Amino acid sequence: MSFENGGAFLREIRSEVETYLGSRGTRVRGRLELYAKSAVALPLLAASWAVLVFVRPGLLLGLLCLLGCVLGAVLVGFCVQHDANHGAYFRSRRLNHLLGWTTDALLGFSSYAWRVKHNVAHHTYTNVDGYDDDIDQTPFARMLPSQPARPWYRLQHLYVWPLYTLMLIRWQIGADVAALVRGRIANSAIRVPRRWDLVGLLAGKAIFVGWAIVVPLLFYPWWIVAAGYAGFAMAASLVTATTFQLAHCVEEAASASAEELATTRRLWAVHEVESTVDFCPRNVVLTWLLGGLNFQIEHHLFPRVPHTHYPRISEIVRRKAAEHGVRYTAQPSLRAAIRSHQRHLRALGRIGRPVEIEMG
Ligand SMILES: [Zn+2]
Repeated sequence: MSFENGGAFLREIRSEVETYLGSRGTRVRGRLELYAKSAVALPLLAASWAVLVFVRPGLLLGLLCLLGCVLGAVLVGFCVQHDANHGAYFRSRRLNHLLGWTTDALLGFSSYAWRVKHNVAHHTYTNVDGYDDDIDQTPFARMLPSQPARPWYRLQHLYVWPLYTLMLIRWQIGADVAALVRGRIANSAIRVPRRWDLVGLLAGKAIFVGWAIVVPLLFYPWWIVAAGYAGFAMAASLVTATTFQLAHCVEEAASASAEELATTRRLWAVHEVESTVDFCPRNVVLTWLLGGLNFQIEHHLFPRVPHTHYPRISEIVRRKAAEHGVRYTAQPSLRAAIRSHQRHLRALGRIGRPVEIEMG
């Protein structure tokens, strides 16, 4: 199963983006803005955690510190590890992997497994049934028309939200290791890590368990640590899952089965743009916080470009999409994006064989 590469659509976009990134000043500014986010995310997480654990500040301030931990972790997820694991942070692959290891040490799951799950399975085969692991949540939820119907999916638009809060915990307690043992993530092969990759995985798990559970247990009773960890992981998970779902699991996002792609060869770039949706492109606060993941169309076309350039690149992609008749969707608000996700889940939840989703 593969896509057609190239095409005038992508060629013209690339040419304009290269002209935009041709200026050294633009490239340096983009990188400095990216580095500034690490300088906020990492100290915010560290300081919130240190005050929470060592100062033991009481309930209200304690909750505020926990919120700081959640915000810090979300920023690490969206603005540090995501770019680094895509190779967008530095020129050096080794440095990118080193910073990408914040996934292991600070978020609790394997960056080695993430690079296959996200960079290969999700980015190459976006919204392709059986290939994109992100969109396969069966038998819990049906997110593509080609997935089989089950009676309980009728309520999925309600119960997916608590499920989203468990996504990170699932990976933290071993879904990543299970994938390594299985040797596959969806249809993408993954090898058992060796040498430094294995050291990184084991050390990362140990460090995460150390700061998130063992050290707090020295200062608090177990039930407070359990509640704190659950609150932290569930809140960070909900924000992360929702952000990814609003880009791909909505009415306007196209999808495909492997059979469809085998019979009609599609241009990869066109598929990426039509299977992805931007949201809140004018919201500067959200754009800063989400690491440009509200510009996921641009991210899917240019995953190795620092996300700080996406707002400008989106002007190019949007214009070229209109010229080439490619469907480009940007939801104006968070509310509109969430409502579209809900309608999509509701439509797919109705019992029956594959449903036709009305395209916007
Ligand atoms: Zn990505």
